[in-house]
Amino acid sequence: MDKSLLLVDDDVGIIKALSRLLTRSGYTVKTAQSGEEALNALLSFDCKVVLTDFRMPYMDGGQLLSKIKRLYPDIVALVLSGYSDFESVKSLLNAGSAYRFLQKPWEDDELLDEVENAFTHYAKCLFQRQSQKMLLASSDALVEISYPSLISQANIAARKLLGETFVEGRLLDDFWVESDRSRLHGQALSIGQSMSMRLLNHTELEVTCRLAGPSGVVLSFHPVTDGELLNAVFELPSLINYQQLVSLIGQYLNASRPMVLVVIKIRSFELWSRMIGYSEAQRTIERIALQLRNTMGESGQLALLANEQFVLCLPDVASEMNALQKAAAIIDPVTGQADVMLSQLDYAVSYCLIPDDGDDPRTVLNNLLLGNMMIAEDAVRMFMRYDKQAVERKKHQISLNQALFHAVEQGQLFLNFQAKFDVAEYALSGCEALIRWSHPDFGMVSPSLFIPLAEQHGQMVDIGYWVLKTAFITAAKWHSQGVQFGKMAINISGRQLMEPDFIHWIKHHIQLTGVEPTLLEFELTETFLLNNLDDCAITLNAIAELGISIAIDDFGTGYSSLSYLSKLPINVLKIDRSLILDIESNLNTESLVANVVRLAHDLNMKVVVEGIETLDQLNIVKYLGCDVIQGYCISKPQLEEDYLALLTSFESLSATMP
Ligand code: C2E
Ligand code: MG
Ligand code: MG
Repeated sequence: MDKSLLLVDDDVGIIKALSRLLTRSGYTVKTAQSGEEALNALLSFDCKVVLTDFRMPYMDGGQLLSKIKRLYPDIVALVLSGYSDFESVKSLLNAGSAYRFLQKPWEDDELLDEVENAFTHYAKCLFQRQSQKMLLASSDALVEISYPSLISQANIAARKLLGETFVEGRLLDDFWVESDRSRLHGQALSIGQSMSMRLLNHTELEVTCRLAGPSGVVLSFHPVTDGELLNAVFELPSLINYQQLVSLIGQYLNASRPMVLVVIKIRSFELWSRMIGYSEAQRTIERIALQLRNTMGESGQLALLANEQFVLCLPDVASEMNALQKAAAIIDPVTGQADVMLSQLDYAVSYCLIPDDGDDPRTVLNNLLLGNMMIAEDAVRMFMRYDKQAVERKKHQISLNQALFHAVEQGQLFLNFQAKFDVAEYALSGCEALIRWSHPDFGMVSPSLFIPLAEQHGQMVDIGYWVLKTAFITAAKWHSQGVQFGKMAINISGRQLMEPDFIHWIKHHIQLTGVEPTLLEFELTETFLLNNLDDCAITLNAIAELGISIAIDDFGTGYSSLSYLSKLPINVLKIDRSLILDIESNLNTESLVANVVRLAHDLNMKVVVEGIETLDQLNIVKYLGCDVIQGYCISKPQLEEDYLALLTSFESLSATMP
């Protein structure tokens, strides 16, 4: 962890002495001589610890730390002052705005100890926040352990996999077989590392370290040798288990004998558990197992694995069509049952063919199960053949999702800027800030891929605030340098708007960065707004009152309802690229765009068209009355310095025009 510290004191002598001491001890130190200077420094200095004097003119240490606590709740604050200030500092300590009070004059060694403790405290809190997010968002079985062995949190998936006794306050050690107990201690796992451990019932689990902090780790658990429901209330002798299934697949692969593997995921299980209780729902699963087994006769094998996934193995199929017919003949009678529960059966079926779909039994099975979980997330019921590429993409997505939790803190994000061109004025009228993620292993990751992940898994709010803060600082800087850039548009995800302190955060950061709100535009997508119209109206009005312009992004991909949107304070409509793709050849598209433009203008909105790549497209949309275009035809999204160079070249071009 980068050990960055902000030192605030109005006494230059103290600043010099402390700065020397801390820099020599390996800290990255920035200094400020007043509260205002400190708040300004925090805009661009990503610091973990603040060490501040208490008595300072204009803004004292108390006022400064209250502001820091509200704006940067993660920063750990230390107050360094004379003992006579202790009473005043006490209220800061009680309110959590300060972590420790250090007395002036100080002893170097003691002060260094306290500073180091503050960094450790920061790392512990960071770990807890990340762990909390991971446990809530993940469908994997995750458990947070406080060193050396205390279970401090387990998510729902973990309790489902490991049993209801796997709860906070128990020792992790108690769950392993004797010989494995000390192994997890002896071998401190680093992030991404795995080891295999056996539970008391000898079920083998793969334990992987997903997050590590100074006080604990987050571990994920996956069954390796036996994928059966661990806490199953039933044991059906006629079913095979995971291990037997793997060896059966292995035999067929070795002999190159054809077999179809069909996974049936019972999606109604969660609903049934809520309606009739967990044990009763499991008994319903048991009934399904028996019925499937009966219908199959001697024609194959059946396994029941974790997550209510059945696997049918039907050997010696002549063709894919033959395989599907055989499988349907077994599944249809069960799903068509008159039974009340079964009539509500909701399931997802996928299959793969052996030996065509892989050559390693474990990989074949695991990929098939993962692929089935993927289709189970969509509302698809029909038979789907295992899609190798989709499974590989999913595995990649899972790794990306984990890495995304660290993107902000590891400084992997940056902004690009793309020009918007006013077709009537023939000048650049603004730009859109677009996020970029550069990961050391994955390279550049497209926002179209990671923004939806972040929205789904909880990283969007942190990422969104990073984008806003960086864009505000950039716009304020350009403005102060006299750069005429029109408006800077920033994409806001629906998740950000739902944050209760969103408007408060915006107001404060406008104040802190000194950005002029009329130079900003927020782009929001139509789908989110229409789904949350009443809540959004309040937030959008507050944004508009601040002087920030509002644009509807990706218009034409959702409901495209202008009458709904007329109830909201919207200034700009951005027509999505997909709507104009065939504009050069399709007259219907032309008249559609002309109508949208007319309606938008009636509602006093400007119209921007996105994704204009050719001069022909530009001329057509200009003719149809669009005001502004954005697209590769003018410029691709660029780094800040390249964008500024583009602005300059456009300025000199327009200076030469009559
Ligand atoms: P968007 O807001 O609709 O942004 C426009 C996208 O179209 C950008 O893709 C841009 O590079 C691309 N584009 C612009 N002109 C052309 C063109 O002429 N042809 C083609 N083929 N594409 C063009 P990008 O940068 O990959 O961003 C994709 C989406 O990711 C954005 O769509 C937006 O929804 C989201 N996104 C990007 N940055 C942020 C951000 O900071 N916050 C949030 N919440 N979402 C963001
Ligand atoms: Mg946009
Ligand atoms: Mg768009």
